[in-house]
Amino acid sequence: MSDRHSGDSNRSPTRSRVFRLTTIAASGLGSFALALWAVRSGVGGIDGIPANIVAGMIAALCALAASFAAMSFFAGIDESASWVYRETQFDKLTGLSTRAAMAGRVAEAATGAIGTGRPVFLLDIDIDRFKHINDTIGYSDGDRLVHAFAERLKEILPREAEIGRISAGEFAVLIPDRPDLGSMDAFIGRIYERLTQPYQLPSHLQSVNMSVGLVAIPKDGTEPVTLLRRANLALQHARGGGIGNWSAFHEQMGRVADYRQWIESELHVAFRRGDFELHYQPQFDLSTGRTVGYEALVRWRHPERGMVPPGEFVPVAEETGMIVPIGEWVLRKACEDARFLPQDCFVAVNISPVQFMTRDFLSMVSGVIASTGIDPKRLELEVTETAMMQDRAHAAAILDALSQMNISVAVDDFGTGYSNLSYLVDFPFKKLKIDQSFVRRLESDNNSGAVVSTIVGLSRALGVRTIAEGVETESQATLLKAAGCQVGQGYLFGKPGPLVMRDGRLEPRHDAATVH
Ligand code: C2E
Ligand code: CA
Ligand code: CA
Repeated sequence: MSDRHSGDSNRSPTRSRVFRLTTIAASGLGSFALALWAVRSGVGGIDGIPANIVAGMIAALCALAASFAAMSFFAGIDESASWVYRETQFDKLTGLSTRAAMAGRVAEAATGAIGTGRPVFLLDIDIDRFKHINDTIGYSDGDRLVHAFAERLKEILPREAEIGRISAGEFAVLIPDRPDLGSMDAFIGRIYERLTQPYQLPSHLQSVNMSVGLVAIPKDGTEPVTLLRRANLALQHARGGGIGNWSAFHEQMGRVADYRQWIESELHVAFRRGDFELHYQPQFDLSTGRTVGYEALVRWRHPERGMVPPGEFVPVAEETGMIVPIGEWVLRKACEDARFLPQDCFVAVNISPVQFMTRDFLSMVSGVIASTGIDPKRLELEVTETAMMQDRAHAAAILDALSQMNISVAVDDFGTGYSNLSYLVDFPFKKLKIDQSFVRRLESDNNSGAVVSTIVGLSRALGVRTIAEGVETESQATLLKAAGCQVGQGYLFGKPGPLVMRDGRLEPRHDAATVH
């Protein structure tokens, strides 16, 4: 690609060679003449040395001094110019191009792509939830992580790729289309594979996930700001689709970005206005056929737009921090509602990783328990692996405290997060919740069956229970039961529904596909 370091040193007159030599010579000559004149007109001889020789010596010294002054002036300019250049063009932590420099590279790439007719790809690679990781592990470990991430990126990309760090945990990559790049899917897959392997930091092993957005130049634009924005829109789209995804830009995404913006600004209003409500989905004991618990799922009923799905607003609430007050409201409401659920059933509440890591999480939970009067044995918190892996020591302490408070914890979306399962041994929790992606593929894909059996075996070894989510068919339920899974949740047993008034009292309503 472009020669990223060949600056424009000859374009500025202050930096051209002829200009420098002329200025240095002129300063010297000028000072020489001035000193000669001054000495001739005012100073006599010193200690027998004739006045004209003393004058000549002083003038020569002045000329030398002036030339040095001119030289150091230019050296100063050079130093500060290269300092400014380094500051604005290169990121101190990683040595990669900065955002500003990258915009220049994108412009050059666009000109090149139009000239040669060979497309260039721009990738936006972002460490998922980097801000949160940084807050949790501290800034020096955060820096180490970014540095190591950048090093791996340099290693895995072909030499002609341009790499820039465009924000804290975000990188832009320019790469020309070449036959040996193979399919984009495989190429990004390789990057993903390498970059998401855990990072050894001084105090712990840090896992990360990442999302990637892609634009093709010139197809998706030629203007750097637009291209960077579109790559980021594609990235946001990928992130919305789940962890570890990538997306190529398409026109529709501009509208998606507006929608996200709308959600962000509307969430505060919605919370104050009381738009949120809870629906409950039953959890069903596969061997006794009894409902043993209910998962509380938040719903946003917007007065004009109607229902906004949690998959759309929860990630935005997590990014903006609004999940903390919303999550507290959910917990409080679920604990209050527990008295309308059968007394032998527990209520399961989702806890966002952002909430889980807040400083006053435990005091918030104990405050809610005290004020609602719920028996803590009837409360279960669903926490994802992601939440627990951010800071294992902190997570273990929270889980210990919850267990002492008699509150049980289920590991949500189990099987989707990390390959390193050693944390299971250290953490006190009561249940593994097998992710619905495995359940969905159970009938068609033998691997999923093996995963389910392994998880059940693992749970047995750990002395915890297993629940499978997203159970939609009888045959899935049969396979799960055969594998030893104790509890199931899904449309087969009941969809999430609100509490409804029946015979003068509230109770959960869900439209089950089958009655058991
Ligand atoms: P999740 O915790 O994995 O919740 C299960 C999701 O699967 C729910 O989607 C539920 O409606 C859906 N589901 C249940 N059974 C079936 C089934 O048989 N088939 C299919 N296809 N789907 C099924 P929902 O309610 O849209 O929630 C999506 C996600 O939003 C949740 O995933 C959870 O991550 C988040 N969420 C929901 N409520 C809350 C909350 O109160 N707090 C937090 N932090 N997150 C929440
Ligand atoms: Ca859940
Ligand atoms: Ca889940």
